[in-house]
Amino acid sequence: MTIPQQPGERPVTSPGGTFPATGPRDVLGLAAQPPDGGAFDAHHPPAAELISDCVHCGFCLPTCPTYVLWGEEMDSPRGRIYLMKEGLEGEPLSDSMVTHFDRCLGCMSCVTACPSGVRYDRLIEDTRQQVERRHRRGPRERALRAAIFALFPYPRRLRLLRGPLRAYQASGLRRLVARTGLLPRLAPTLAALESLAPRLGSPARLPARMPAVGPRRAVVGMLTGCVQSAFFPEVNAATARVLAAEGCDVVILPDRQGCCGALSVHNGREEEARRFARRTLDAFAAAGVDFFVVNAAGCGSTLKEYGDLLRDDARYAALAADFAGKVRDLSELLDELGPVATRHPLPVTVAYHDACHLAHAQGVRAQPRRLLRDIPGLELREIADPEICCGSAGIWNVLHPGPAAELGDRKARTVLATGARLLVTANPGCLMQVAASVTRAGGDIALAHTAQVLDASLRARPVEELL
Ligand code: SF4
Ligand code: SF4
Repeated sequence: MTIPQQPGERPVTSPGGTFPATGPRDVLGLAAQPPDGGAFDAHHPPAAELISDCVHCGFCLPTCPTYVLWGEEMDSPRGRIYLMKEGLEGEPLSDSMVTHFDRCLGCMSCVTACPSGVRYDRLIEDTRQQVERRHRRGPRERALRAAIFALFPYPRRLRLLRGPLRAYQASGLRRLVARTGLLPRLAPTLAALESLAPRLGSPARLPARMPAVGPRRAVVGMLTGCVQSAFFPEVNAATARVLAAEGCDVVILPDRQGCCGALSVHNGREEEARRFARRTLDAFAAAGVDFFVVNAAGCGSTLKEYGDLLRDDARYAALAADFAGKVRDLSELLDELGPVATRHPLPVTVAYHDACHLAHAQGVRAQPRRLLRDIPGLELREIADPEICCGSAGIWNVLHPGPAAELGDRKARTVLATGARLLVTANPGCLMQVAASVTRAGGDIALAHTAQVLDASLRARPVEELL
């Protein structure tokens, strides 16, 4: 796509092509408030100051999954930032602009890669909120999004799906549907959902509180999550056991928890996200926790940003900022506390997959690897191109099933190339996406959450239980 040059701008040649030079805000001519008729209204538009930080160097391009897939400048971080700048300068929010914003997975790989520290995370979050407020999608898209948001952020509704899903999986209908090959052609979105659904075990009921084993080192709240609690209750059970074994009183309060708001934040549904965030804060306000632990990467990055999310809310702003400071990924907290429980051997080769919202959004890469390497007998292997998203990205794989499957297939190839017997990651979305991709590739590798591997080692369970 050709980017029009602004009068007086100096073109810059970079790895991804030629672009207008950036400069200070007055050179760019960005108004303090977006002009009338532009893409954005005055309620938190993408900030001109942050846009100006981009020097168009193009270092982010090779790490961007949509640029890797299509090689289109407007489907790269740099291209999207350019569109935001155009929107601030008066360009209306066109269907094409929205398409390029919608295609962003929000993986934040570009944030890690950017040498200029561009806060693309803030930019795309503010942009998505504008899109949700100011753009009317087509009827099919509206209906699909309405269905997703009437279901996914509600753990109780998701849990109602368990029975029919288990019956479907047990009946052999799943194999029959796969053999016909018709579903992806007739209903790609339904086919994507069907392929992602994990094999369900028995639900594990969590107590309101689990006491520390031995001397107490911390009181820790724990998020049970939506997809995690409905489809991976065994991961939550393992998380609570590991925390207790490492000397934490675990406050769970499963009946008071709901969605943390991550899915809504990542899709520009600002008011809904705030409502969920307030509810989470209310649930744990009186629990007196030292830390709040999350075992789902996408939720963790949102909880750490509660201060920003509720910054305009006079009643909750201070509470949200304080709470956000206590949020830790499970691996982060265990690493911070240091081990006290005995690790028993687990003789297994493990490939560790960095969930984007853990590695790029939270900068948590070393801690899970250290925890896994500390397990006797466990051999850790690295996956090639770890910075490229697996294509899960919240609901992106449901909204964009074709490209998501392509990204999943790439990830499956690099995962299987490690020759490991077990793939470990820390996000339910990645677990489902990689499992579906590996199955499509005809590969054979077991999948587990970091918490399950640690739990098996602490309880001296045979490694076969994970395989
Ligand atoms: S968040 Fe991911 S998909 Fe979006 S622009 Fe950045 S690298 Fe590309
Ligand atoms: S976002 Fe960062 S890495 Fe990408 S073009 Fe701009 S300055 Fe370069």
